[in-house]
Amino acid sequence: MFDRHFAVWPENLPHHLTIPETSLCTNLDVSALRYPEKPAIIYYDHTITYRELKRQVDALAGYLQTLGVDKGDRVLLYMQNAPQFIIGYYAILRANAIVVPINPMNRTAELEHYLEDTQATVTLAAQEVFANIAPLIGTRQLRHVIVASYSDYIDPQTDLDLPAEVRAPAQPLQTEGAIAWRDAIDAGKTPGELLVGPDDLAVFPYSSGTTGAPKGCMHTHRSVMATCVHGVAWRSGGGSEGIILSTLPYFHVTGMQGAMNAPIYTGACIVLMTRWDRRTAATLIQRYQVTSWTNIVTMAIDLLSDPEVESFDLSSLQNIGGGGAAMPEAVSDKLFKLTGLRYIEGYGLSETIAATHINPAEKPKKQCLGIPVFDVDSRVIDQETGKELGVGEVGEIISHGPQIFQGYWNRPEETEKAFIELDGKPFFRTGDMGYYDEEGYFFIVDRVKRMINASGFKVWPAEVESLMYRHPAIQECCIISAPHERRGETVKACVVLNAKDKDNVSEDDIITWCKNEMAAYKVPQIVEFRDELPRSPTGKVMWRALQEQEWAKSEST
Ligand code: AMP
Repeated sequence: MFDRHFAVWPENLPHHLTIPETSLCTNLDVSALRYPEKPAIIYYDHTITYRELKRQVDALAGYLQTLGVDKGDRVLLYMQNAPQFIIGYYAILRANAIVVPINPMNRTAELEHYLEDTQATVTLAAQEVFANIAPLIGTRQLRHVIVASYSDYIDPQTDLDLPAEVRAPAQPLQTEGAIAWRDAIDAGKTPGELLVGPDDLAVFPYSSGTTGAPKGCMHTHRSVMATCVHGVAWRSGGGSEGIILSTLPYFHVTGMQGAMNAPIYTGACIVLMTRWDRRTAATLIQRYQVTSWTNIVTMAIDLLSDPEVESFDLSSLQNIGGGGAAMPEAVSDKLFKLTGLRYIEGYGLSETIAATHINPAEKPKKQCLGIPVFDVDSRVIDQETGKELGVGEVGEIISHGPQIFQGYWNRPEETEKAFIELDGKPFFRTGDMGYYDEEGYFFIVDRVKRMINASGFKVWPAEVESLMYRHPAIQECCIISAPHERRGETVKACVVLNAKDKDNVSEDDIITWCKNEMAAYKVPQIVEFRDELPRSPTGKVMWRALQEQEWAKSEST
């Protein structure tokens, strides 16, 4: 049996951490009491103190309750990183409801799925994406959309180069059911009693799991709290003195935990950007003496390729790390040369609301997921038989720990398939193939699940296929992964056209159509027309066979 204690455990850390028995809202309350005048958020030079953050959270929570939001209701949060994301997130929790973060790249067809699945009555949306959700007001259960303009929170004096969507002033709203963010806050409502505790549901990040359409991963206040406590204990530069540069999207668990929930738990300062820009990031690190930066491969590569990067003082940084996709060795070596810091890679999933494995700062390994963190028991099993495997043997990585989700929202069958019992404990099946070495470090080698990891953005082929089938000329399609120099992987569509449309539709037509129908990162970058797709004896499209053809092709070139 795997003994987690043979892992290289950091000397200064205990093996077990106690998780506070409170709701996440308490974290903000405590930080606002301890550090009322301290900046909680610095957004393009505009400061919001902890006192002010709490005031706005309470006002919005009270307003949500006047719209009928009640305990256990799901509320969609549909925007890029901005103060309104943080205020909205904590207001939904304070109103005893559940946060459903939605990637702002999603379009109307994708939003329909989330509204159907959650039966949300209220959405908090950014002005820049409001047009996608406006036609859905009055459909399903959706009645109200609170519309946020990022420019409400910027400092007009700033010398920073602001993205266009951040500069855009608030527009008057004419749609029935649309409410201006400012009006909601200025109504000055007071929320009712806090009714949620550690075992109540808090957040549903969406993921496709190993198959099918996006599903809500049910996380309680306790599981989210666990990763806040773990993340802060593991990394240096993350306490109340921490200054955290927030560049990863909050709708995804890595950004949500590392750059929002963990800093609020400790009373740290969040230096917030809406859109990645290497110059702005370097300026902010220097200007605000940032101590901690969680990123993904493409951001690190982009920063390193700035010819002027060395003219910035980045010496305040105490840790740089990330997860969600493998960090290539050459990139982490260049980062080390620039900052003197070893890149700390971690591993987790939406189902684990951030890391279950992190590299120890004193002894990180390259291209490695790290070791299981506090109270996480992680093992490798034979995918078919469920038998536990030993050192160096490749199988499915499974994990048990306080950050594991409760299951998929309204999908008991999928939930059952996601767990396996071992030694009397439920283990979550990650769908990732990997192994651990003699020191207990884990490595990933492949995936059981059908997923494309385009520099951290997860594309679920089944979802893209079902959107593509809406195209009138497409008879059949199969989405696979193709290698990509910068993103690691990209999306490729193998398409069979209807006989009558064969000569009238081009690959580019399909791509252009997709751009209107789905989030940009899901749009196939390569479309290949075929006469037919390979099928199994039962008639299923054999995506694995197509995938293997693609890999064989890229290896031979
Ligand atoms: P998500 O649910 O979007 O967070 O995606 C989780 C998936 O991202 C995992 O199942 C892995 O396939 C992948 N992943 C996460 N961290 C890493 C990492 N450090 N290296 C390689 N892949 C990773």
